[in-house]
Amino acid sequence: MINKIENLLEEISSYKVNSLQELESFRLKFLSKKGHITELFEEFRGISADLKREVGQKLNELKQKAQDRYNSLKLELETRDDSAGENDLTRPAFPYPSGSRHPISLVRREIIDIFSRIGFTVSEGPEIEDDNHVFTKLNFAPEHPARDMQDTFYIFRNSAEDSDPDDILLRTHTSSVQVRVMENQKPPIRTISPGRVFRNEAISARAHCIFHQIEGLYIDENVSFADLKQTLLFFARELYGKETQIRLRPSYFPFTEPSAEMDVSCAICGGKGCNVCKYTGWLEVLGCGMVHPNVLEACGIDSKKYTGFAFGMGIERAAMLKYQVNDLRLYFENDLRFLDQFKTAF
Ligand SMILES: [Zn+2]
Repeated sequence: MINKIENLLEEISSYKVNSLQELESFRLKFLSKKGHITELFEEFRGISADLKREVGQKLNELKQKAQDRYNSLKLELETRDDSAGENDLTRPAFPYPSGSRHPISLVRREIIDIFSRIGFTVSEGPEIEDDNHVFTKLNFAPEHPARDMQDTFYIFRNSAEDSDPDDILLRTHTSSVQVRVMENQKPPIRTISPGRVFRNEAISARAHCIFHQIEGLYIDENVSFADLKQTLLFFARELYGKETQIRLRPSYFPFTEPSAEMDVSCAICGGKGCNVCKYTGWLEVLGCGMVHPNVLEACGIDSKKYTGFAFGMGIERAAMLKYQVNDLRLYFENDLRFLDQFKTAF
């Protein structure tokens, strides 16, 4: 009987199947109620008591092996790749919904791309800043209203009444990055700093407490207002179209002198007047000016030797003009019905 078991073990371990039918034959031959193993168990009842222990052990081993072999043959059949050479090339692809870039990211990237073509690098800095980098070194007087709690989100304030260079706050503009660049680099400096900024404003179609800015800075010997104007004209025509006109109106910022606001001609009505340009033919897009000597000196740059210009714009404002979306809140709500519309832009 031991011999019979040994022979079956050998047969089982070398058994091969190529189809489910052959697998079923294996089951019938060894594992079914009429199979060899059941037969042997019948035979086992009649053997002498002194052999029972040894034969019983072998028999159980055989039964286990047969079951294991059956399982592994079955798995082999199931996982075998039957489709080799028979792939259906006309089968539709698995549906894969593609995402889209956010309109703010699209415009941000386009602006960076325009300035990088004329040699501007990209600088980034912390969103949580100190008063020194956001206000003091940018020539904001201690009593300047922008430092007020009504405009600025303070995280830590040394005094409830007076501002202090060590106050910690959320940056209200990305000019703080320019301060950090001026502190750490020697002119010539030619850089833009895109990023999120924070102001304590009630959320409406025209205002939000978070928005995005891109500010530019160029410092070298003999940089003039004419250089600023040419740079901005190039930028406006790249972003808003070849026919775009610009105009500069005198303005005031603490960190530039002289300062100006730049308008571009309204591309929607071609300057004739429409509700987007409020019937003026012009759209206000950015602020700019020559870097104030006090700012250069505060950042360790010799204002006798170097001059520079700076400009800054809101990315949302540029996106609103580009895509004709006039409610700022849409850019922050992440409504897929809105975002899906930018799928073709990249
Ligand atoms: Zn217009």
